Amino acid sequence: MNVPAQLIEALRQAQHVVVLTGSGVSAESGVPTFRDAQTGLWSRFRPEDLATPQAFQRDPKTVWEWYEWRRSLVTEVEPNPGHAAIARLEQQVPQLTLITQNVDGLHQRAGSASALEFHGNILGNRCFDEHRVLGDDELTPGTPPTCNHCGGYVRPDVVWFGEEIDQGVLDTALTACARCDVLLSVGTASEVQPAAGLAELALSCDAVVAEINPADTPLSSQVHFCLRGPAGELLPQLVAAIEEE
Ligand code: NAD
Repeated sequence: MNVPAQLIEALRQAQHVVVLTGSGVSAESGVPTFRDAQTGLWSRFRPEDLATPQAFQRDPKTVWEWYEWRRSLVTEVEPNPGHAAIARLEQQVPQLTLITQNVDGLHQRAGSASALEFHGNILGNRCFDEHRVLGDDELTPGTPPTCNHCGGYVRPDVVWFGEEIDQGVLDTALTACARCDVLLSVGTASEVQPAAGLAELALSCDAVVAEINPADTPLSSQVHFCLRGPAGELLPQLVAAIEEE
């Protein structure tokens, strides 16, 4: 693919770049997106029916076991060239804000200095009743484990469907998107709010916006550039093009 020259130039000139990622950026690492069929034992469940507080209250054991399965999956995989390219881009521009909807921690493992984890981190734990973030020594093992402080159930430290994004994280993300010069929307279907609105905010504030995704999304018709293909191939090409003289 030829990376559009105007996009390369915009990235070279940019003072502040936002990279917004969704589960597509981890697909080439072997982490399935929610839209991909779940495999094996879990194929009869819809993620939308498991990743909610109501599902946890109804059947904490099943939801916990699903997260245990997803946790083992995430710890067994490696970051891919797409994650690595984003970490490299951070070295090339004066300021980069990475906002990820992913909960897998792969950006940090690829070397990104910081990632705003919009939907939390799947490896973290929190008390269901009191919302307290818990270290390993603050819970009693079980399916699910229980909180040593209140005795209630422990849940993964992620944002479930229907839950609010952490206000501090949301504010930082909104400010970055309102002020950035370029936003790259990578591997996200742009359907889950409020993350989906971030690229639109950047557009309305006159940023150059490019989408990197093999498929069309509701954002595609609004952006300046659509780069069609897998992030693990296109991002390294994009970053190499910026480095070329
Ligand atoms: P999404 O918005 O993350 O959609 C996935 C998008 O990735 C689709 O548009 C698809 O075309 C695109 N895609 C697939 N392969 C790609 C590739 N190789 N390169 C670039 N793009 C690619 O929606 P979802 O998957 O339904 O997820 C919903 C929510 O759950 C989001 O918050 C998501 O981040 C989260 N989630 C996170 C993980 C993870 O942490 N890895 C996994 C599953 C879901």
